[in-house]
Amino acid sequence: MDIGFIGLGHMGGPMAKNLVKAGHSVKVFDLVDSAVTALVEAGATLSTSAQDAAIGADVLISMLPASQHVESLYLGEQGLFNTVDSSTLIIDCSTIAPETARSVASVAAGKGLTMIDAPVSGGTAGAANGTLTFIVGGSEEAVNRATPVLENMGKNIFRAGDSGAGQVAKICNNMLLAVLMSGTAEAIQLGVANGLDPRVLSDIMQKSSGRNWALELYNPYPGVMESVPSSNDYQGGFGVDLMAKDLGLAMESALQSRSSTPMGALARSLYAMHSSKGAGKLDFSSIQKLFSEL
Ligand code: NAD
Repeated sequence: MDIGFIGLGHMGGPMAKNLVKAGHSVKVFDLVDSAVTALVEAGATLSTSAQDAAIGADVLISMLPASQHVESLYLGEQGLFNTVDSSTLIIDCSTIAPETARSVASVAAGKGLTMIDAPVSGGTAGAANGTLTFIVGGSEEAVNRATPVLENMGKNIFRAGDSGAGQVAKICNNMLLAVLMSGTAEAIQLGVANGLDPRVLSDIMQKSSGRNWALELYNPYPGVMESVPSSNDYQGGFGVDLMAKDLGLAMESALQSRSSTPMGALARSLYAMHSSKGAGKLDFSSIQKLFSEL
């Protein structure tokens, strides 16, 4: 297939590489030249603009930071909705507000275009290994069309419902992730402050009822686990500011639906405080630093 891919950051870069590996012809674009160069070295084709990447694509994929980036890419006079062919399937994998996903998809539909929201879970390791979970919102027909392409980048593809539903499910998941990462960091620090080795404590909790994803795959305490951001000065991974954004989206959705989210609200405050101390670009497991002197 001819695939256009826009946004080659921590996630988009390795995702686009997996499409190249699967044999697709991939045209790539990012505002950061070095990100594009890395993909061209991996076998992708250079695009000089987002429009260039989109023209003639069977599938157009975007992986951008937040709602405003997605709106400015697709909407308006210069927006890609005025560039892409009606046969192009548009897949936005960014995590954005559900109402933005709905409104952008509805503008697309008004122009005779098909767009789905397909945010991902699984982190940078999942992106590199092609084991992401895609949480998709859109018509069944569009999701079925997207599935073979998504399978080149992920292992699980869920249709959550119509447009925006993928974003709602993703926001619920990330609110839970922030809560459990904060709780895990707090518990490890309690043990360390009371004389325990963080490795021993982590092994114990992993085989006990406190077991969770952070303990199993993404321990926040430096040196407990190899090849995770906490053992690399919290570089790479999923940024604190991106997690703070997702928690903000969760709070907006809670307000609109009159849902009570006290744990999510606390996690949002912790991540906002952490970011305000200059940790915005560190991986989100660095919330450990709020509890520990590392
Ligand atoms: P990132 O900041 O590393 O990458 C975003 C990329 O988009 C950057 O390279 C930036 O230059 C590019 N970009 C921004 N505007 C652009 C434009 N108009 N045209 C072309 N390129 C543009 O972010 P990331 O970590 O890759 O995350 C991307 C999305 O995936 C976010 O919505 C995030 O919440 C979500 N997400 C991230 C992770 C993770 O572990 N990092 C996991 C799941 C979901």
